[in-house]
Amino acid sequence: MKSSQLFTRTRKQAPADETSKNAQLLIRAGFVHKEMAGVYAYLPLGLRVIENIKTIVREEMNTINSNELIMTGLQRKEVWDKTGRWNDDVVDVWFKSKLKDGTEVGFGWSHEEPIVEMIKQHINSYKDLPVSLYQFQTKLRNELRAKSGIMRGREFVMKDMYSFHNSAEELEDYYNLAIEAYKRVFNRLGIGKDTYVTFASGGAFTKFSHEFQTICEAGEDVIYLHRGKNIAINEEVIDDAVKELGIKREDLEKVNTAETGNIFNFGSQKADEIGLKVSGPDDKEQSVYLGSYGIGITRVMGVIAEKMSDDKGLVWPENVAPFKVYLASLGDNEQVTKAADELYALLQKNNIETLYDDRSVRPGEKFADADLMGIPHRIVISEKTIQAGTLEYKSRTGTDTKMITKQELLEILG
Ligand code: ATP
Ligand code: MG
Repeated sequence: MKSSQLFTRTRKQAPADETSKNAQLLIRAGFVHKEMAGVYAYLPLGLRVIENIKTIVREEMNTINSNELIMTGLQRKEVWDKTGRWNDDVVDVWFKSKLKDGTEVGFGWSHEEPIVEMIKQHINSYKDLPVSLYQFQTKLRNELRAKSGIMRGREFVMKDMYSFHNSAEELEDYYNLAIEAYKRVFNRLGIGKDTYVTFASGGAFTKFSHEFQTICEAGEDVIYLHRGKNIAINEEVIDDAVKELGIKREDLEKVNTAETGNIFNFGSQKADEIGLKVSGPDDKEQSVYLGSYGIGITRVMGVIAEKMSDDKGLVWPENVAPFKVYLASLGDNEQVTKAADELYALLQKNNIETLYDDRSVRPGEKFADADLMGIPHRIVISEKTIQAGTLEYKSRTGTDTKMITKQELLEILG
């Protein structure tokens, strides 16, 4: 893409009412637009980041044989009544409305109940299981507070996956596969080493559930970390977990984190409540076991923006960056433009996502934009580089520029 075609402009100042670092940077760099507290639009640059995150998540969910679908945003009250979760005292984030005829509807904040109801029409026999389904969807939640920028939205993109099984053991096996898939996701997103599989409260069926908690100063959660044993424990289950895992409380380090993912074992309770059963090998009805697995796509983007940034702006990891290369041509010299056009064409031919800054603005402005947007590799073409027969290269994380050839550039970009 050429900068002249990008409608967003970077800005020096974030809106005065925006206090979170991730949103300040993302707004200044033109990735998101704040509609109101907790509600953000994703502009072309931001959308590219979301799509990159989704691609990684999609590939890993497909690897564990999950199928992608899209559920509905509007939900029926009756379905949620079956488990008691229509009640605002039980679920405090509901947005609700009414159809013209007075029928109550809810705006999807999660999809366990509707997907269990839906699957009743598609599976009858134990032979139809296991089934795993996932979607990327905008969830709506009437969150009490929304001060963490895109890390806590009232409208946000989630990947939610649901798996259905014949037995607790089969669910347990899949649950463990999902943990491994999530680890691969967070590694590929560049936050793997700071993301911990955390023991959290398990509800009625298992002693613990698991959260994926990413170390982040601005996160709203606290976990206790045993660095030696690589164990992380959520505050709410600390007493239980210390006993169970045989570790000493004084060996635990308290750190601020953001919950980037969450996996949950519902046992057979939810399917039982909603009336989902299958016929077993003996033709008798048997229970269905449900697992539920979330990743906050836009929260992950916010966490990366928080963690990977410096005084100049964002610093995207390669796999999620909106573009891999920022190509800047300096000056209006015809030869420079021609050389930059040619390099842009070469990068496109090699499928290297490039933002080509073809604007006639000062070099300092171009460099500041490249840094603020956090694009990993910067290439400059100027009269000086043409005379030298090379390109000027700088990595977003490095401090020095160096002169390299086209061939060397292609090697750097892999
Ligand atoms: P939290 O404790 O942060 O409110 P949750 O337990 O309500 O999270 P889930 O319902 O399990 O979250 O949702 C799955 C994932 O969706 C979470 O792990 C998180 O990454 C993301 N998520 C949850 N609420 C929000 C939100 N308001 N804005 C952005 N992402 C969210
Ligand atoms: Mg919540």
